[in-house]
Amino acid sequence: MDDTTQQPDVQYTSLGRMTLEEWPGSVAANKDSIEFDAIRDTLDNFYVRSDDQSATRCIDGRHDAKLDEHHLGAQMPGGAPGAALAYRLGVDDSDLTRATFFNDAESMIDTFMRLTLAPGGHKDDQHHDGGVGCGALDSMAAIVANMTNPSLVEDHKRIVKTLLGDDYNRDSYLRIMGAALVLQSRSNEYFRDNAKVLGILENRAPGSVSTLEGAHEEAFVFVNFVENTTLSSNRFYETYGVQAFGYDVWRSKQLAHQLLDLHADTTYYRNFLHARVMITIATLITLTNGSQTLVARFSK
Ligand SMILES: [Zn+2]
Repeated sequence: MDDTTQQPDVQYTSLGRMTLEEWPGSVAANKDSIEFDAIRDTLDNFYVRSDDQSATRCIDGRHDAKLDEHHLGAQMPGGAPGAALAYRLGVDDSDLTRATFFNDAESMIDTFMRLTLAPGGHKDDQHHDGGVGCGALDSMAAIVANMTNPSLVEDHKRIVKTLLGDDYNRDSYLRIMGAALVLQSRSNEYFRDNAKVLGILENRAPGSVSTLEGAHEEAFVFVNFVENTTLSSNRFYETYGVQAFGYDVWRSKQLAHQLLDLHADTTYYRNFLHARVMITIATLITLTNGSQTLVARFSK
């Protein structure tokens, strides 16, 4: 297929507003934003073939001047370093008291390079106290805290369950929740060097760090299950004047296979996948007020 070929077997399902509660994040869907029904039939024009050799992207919907529409990397929260937290919570059973996210992220960036998946990450052009401008990287301690917050867990579990469908496993969900609670007890130490992670990325993969422009105003969250495709976030924003978070969940499944288990659905595979999806939803809970429309894109 070429970059813009329509895929008639692809379906979009609106899962509605993410919550009726007020989540702790500040990103809010603009009241004048377009409705999902008004764009549903055009959405496939904004999906292109993903390119493993192009920098892995964050889920962030803001404009990225570096993007080349014909060479787009897959989207996941925090880019490549973000996968390190899923590995820590879902798989790694080494001693947490000596671990740091910085070291875990370094290993994950190397893993991406070994798998010949181009790593990537971003900052932004806003001004931050000590942060880099990637909500997923800067807010990781809050993401873990919100994931284990009793008043948010109902929403969290509902969305994770909906997205994982038949893959949902209660034991895996509870295992990751427990690991997050343990990690939270020393999250200040574990996450202390997060702002330095982009330095390793730039060092290992020069040019892999983007600078996103402007403020967040995402109105949609697109969760994409169709393998090897990804959202042209710049073009979507230019066309409709609204941003969308994009999460390529298929990439998390591929990564789980490549890292942990080629064939079978084993505990490590399941736990990594659950951790990745659970962190993504916790990231949305942390960054947004929950007013965005959640949309799933999958093959019929
Ligand atoms: Zn980001």
